[in-house]
Amino acid sequence: MKNFTYFQPENLKDAAKQLGNNWKDRLLIAGGTDLLGLMKHNLERPDVLINLKSIAGLEKIEYLPGKELRIGALTKITDIAEHPVIREKFTALAEAAGQVASPQLRNMGTIGGNICQRPRCWYYRGDFNCLRKGGDICFAVEGRNKFHCIIGGAPCFIVHPSDLAVALQALEAKLIIFSGKKSKSVAIKDFFVLPDADVYRENILKPNEIITEIHIPEPASGCQSGYLKFQEREVWDFATVSVGVSIKKNANFIETGLVVFGGVAPRPWIEQKISQALTGTILKENTISELTDICLQDAEPLEENKYKVVLAKNLLKNLLMRLNNI
Ligand SMILES: Cc1cc2nc3c(=O)[nH]c(=O)nc-3n(C[C@H](O)[C@H](O)[C@H](O)COP(=O)(O)OP(=O)(O)OC[C@H]3O[C@@H](n4cnc5c(N)ncnc54)[C@H](O)[C@@H]3O)c2cc1C
Ligand code: SF4
Repeated sequence: MKNFTYFQPENLKDAAKQLGNNWKDRLLIAGGTDLLGLMKHNLERPDVLINLKSIAGLEKIEYLPGKELRIGALTKITDIAEHPVIREKFTALAEAAGQVASPQLRNMGTIGGNICQRPRCWYYRGDFNCLRKGGDICFAVEGRNKFHCIIGGAPCFIVHPSDLAVALQALEAKLIIFSGKKSKSVAIKDFFVLPDADVYRENILKPNEIITEIHIPEPASGCQSGYLKFQEREVWDFATVSVGVSIKKNANFIETGLVVFGGVAPRPWIEQKISQALTGTILKENTISELTDICLQDAEPLEENKYKVVLAKNLLKNLLMRLNNI
């Protein structure tokens, strides 16, 4: 690993100042569970690491009843999975957090780092100078692409690896981002970018920007949410496909619904058609199958990952049945 200077800022201003305007030389570190691996494999070679943990106040969970939930960016994934209010009212997030990696990683990894973690494509993590690393081609197109995306790809076919991002999208979270002098609020749906917009970055953060908090609006009365993940192995594993859903019901009627898939696209993928189709329906076992049939119609799977379309539909069906007690 390349030598680096370790900087311990006392506040966000100092951290942003240290970050400056250059991606490559200066990086933030939170729990280090992704970044240190990238540095050991020379995929990141910063001169300066800026430790967010030396700044007070970034690790917190605050519930403001009737308004919103506020989670500090340095909050550990374990604390989110186990928090009673999150489990009861923001269930999709607690369920997603409980399925991230292993207990050790959930005890070190933070929500901010989870959202900003880099892709897991085996060519990107391996010794291949692919497009995302400044090379000329995407090795996944003609290569092994079982775990790559089926929608929203080109010219790079990564899937976004974060479980939490999918649940946060289903719950319509906002990210509070400190950018040098002031903070701004960005809806999570506007945070991630597709490879055709930027093939080197997965989100809109600028070099000196820091996520400080995540805000999730209080769910309206009659709202329920959930998260379901399929992983190939029983122990820690990234989502092959996952789904986060939030629905608002009035008696048996669904008034609104939001469906977001993970593991299918380079960003959490909002399934617009199905979200619209849910509105005004009464879900029964046969109507759920008709409904899930319309999802991911625009998918263009690669050679080895056609199975993801079927898997996504089945996960959504299972989750809708669970949320509707069918
Ligand atoms: C073996 C293994 C299995 C895993 N399995 C899963 C899984 O199943 N599901 C899943 O979702 N994840 C999984 N992960 C990823 C893991 O959850 C992330 O590594 C972790 O959440 C990152 O958090 P961190 O605090 O350690 O981030 P770090 O490693 O410290 O940082 C990660 C990145 O985020 C940036 N960053 C950190 N905090 C901020 C901030 N506040 N503002 C702006 N940028 C920031 C850093 O600069 C860095 O680029 C796995 C990781 C490993 C190693
Ligand atoms: S999918 Fe993206 S990260 Fe993976 S090889 Fe292709 S360009 Fe590189």
